[in-house]
Amino acid sequence: MKALVEAIQEQGVGVGSNIVKVDMFLNHRLDTKLLTAMGQAFADAFQSPKPDVILTVEASGIAVAVTTAIACGNIPVVFAKKSPTSNVTDAVYETPVYSFTHGQQNHIRVAKPYLQEGANVLIIDDFLANGEAAKGLCELVKQANGNVCGIGVCIEKSFQPGRAILEAFGHRVESLAKIVSINDGELVVEG
Ligand code: 5GP
Repeated sequence: MKALVEAIQEQGVGVGSNIVKVDMFLNHRLDTKLLTAMGQAFADAFQSPKPDVILTVEASGIAVAVTTAIACGNIPVVFAKKSPTSNVTDAVYETPVYSFTHGQQNHIRVAKPYLQEGANVLIIDDFLANGEAAKGLCELVKQANGNVCGIGVCIEKSFQPGRAILEAFGHRVESLAKIVSINDGELVVEG
């Protein structure tokens, strides 16, 4: 997606050899025009089967999940929570997820009433690295007896194995931009 590739080229920063910092438009400051366009791109890509609900994980996936849900016709968004808060009083679907950016294992959870049996669930996230977050979200859908109708990620780091892992489980993966490599802080980006 041209606008996203340009934003990454102009505003993205490579940290070390495998972290991409895009706080200017996606992870801290939110570029609402770009987020709206990304949501439309996901809605265009995932028309069949029609998603009933979008599933993401807090916090950075939420903004693009919402713009996608609006573009899909105002369907609901559910975000998995990373900490067991007192707000989550219902029984939950839960699974461990290894966090690439924090180097630790978290549990993610969704209260059972919010993921319904038989629902077509579109998984949306900001980044795809090793596929752990998306795999964990797929596991929550499985526990709920729903169907994953696709996985959409804004930025795929194609030098990491996330896509191959998710496709091996039979999932359709769409990304809007690919980081091919990071060389001395320079990002090599593909549409
Ligand atoms: P994975 O679970 O695929 O290994 O990593 C994806 C998750 O880790 C995403 O939810 C994202 O928040 C975070 N992540 C992975 N790599 C990056 C990165 O290079 N930059 C940022 N900002 N987040 C990342």
